[in-house]
Amino acid sequence: MPENGCMPESCAFCGAVGPLTREHVFGQWVSRTGLDLAPMRHHAGPLNALPRDMGEQPPFRQTVKSFCGSCNNGWMSNLETVAQRVLTPLILDEPGTIAPEDQAAIATWVQKTALTAMLLSSKEQRENGYGLAPSEYRALYERRELVQPLDFSQFWVGRFEGVKGFSAVRVTPLTVRIPDFPEPPLPQGYAMTIVLGALLLHGVRFTTPGLQADTKTEMGMPQLWPSETSVMWPAGQACTETSLLALADGGTLRATGGEVRLQPWSHAAHLPQSAFENGAIKVPALCRKHDIYYPAALLQEAHQGRFYAFMTSCECSAYLIHTDSDRVRFRAAGEPEGIAAMYADLVGDEFLIEDQIGEFACKRLPA
Ligand SMILES: [Zn+2]
Ligand SMILES: [Zn+2]
Ligand SMILES: [Zn+2]
Repeated sequence: MPENGCMPESCAFCGAVGPLTREHVFGQWVSRTGLDLAPMRHHAGPLNALPRDMGEQPPFRQTVKSFCGSCNNGWMSNLETVAQRVLTPLILDEPGTIAPEDQAAIATWVQKTALTAMLLSSKEQRENGYGLAPSEYRALYERRELVQPLDFSQFWVGRFEGVKGFSAVRVTPLTVRIPDFPEPPLPQGYAMTIVLGALLLHGVRFTTPGLQADTKTEMGMPQLWPSETSVMWPAGQACTETSLLALADGGTLRATGGEVRLQPWSHAAHLPQSAFENGAIKVPALCRKHDIYYPAALLQEAHQGRFYAFMTSCECSAYLIHTDSDRVRFRAAGEPEGIAAMYADLVGDEFLIEDQIGEFACKRLPA
């Protein structure tokens, strides 16, 4: 019976109305792999927005209550069983192989996990285009017997060498850009990125028929789906904490043949209004509760085609920010130490700008 007169909820995958069960974003087997279980901050949502803060909790423990028992205990659970068997050694950084007969199930598991994680983003974020359409959930459900990811999708497997015990799920809406055509008003696909310990799984799905581009990654990661051969792991270039940001934005995907490029959907990447205040530009922080400031000189620089990165913070979070032609983009949000490490890793000369606020440090981004 619905509580407090709420609308009865229905399963995000099959649409069944009734009691919903809690499901872990990552199956519970992940917490048994021996990955570091120290509490770390968890965020859900797209990379460019301050992910909704899930608070301090042990990794892998986040749950969403959006699925019926028969989905949860049936096809979703079957995918977790395959993922546990195939991925556990790779998560623990033990070289291994993904056999052709497991590849479709692993790619489907990536898709299912990305869809599940997106349910952690807020209703508001979803309404602003951050979430994935209900039809994506239904389409995956409809091919549950087939155990194949959605059409027009590709998946790769790589190695992550960043913080030990790190885990993340990111989904970034993408647009397919054709030279001389304006940016389409809605995303035409999305990139999915999952990090679990040493394992990196990356995928792209095109949602607009006819626009699917045959893509590859610049990092030489072996393709998991579609594929007809065994995938040896690790292979290709390892991904670091810094390169993960660009990768999750679809930045290492290249359409093979043609002039088509993939870009993060800028409505999702760009910020609301900024204001000029006491010689500084004020922009709402991603938390939407506070503002951050940067010297107006950086905006003038941007008009000259010179762009910078800087760190700042509000009470909720530290941020790594890049200036863009007419605005700033939040590249990362999180603990100050992590943001400082990302800033330190950036290539570029550091500049100090003096203004009314004091000295402001920033790094010139390579052109
Ligand atoms: Zn269901
Ligand atoms: Zn996490
Ligand atoms: Zn804040």
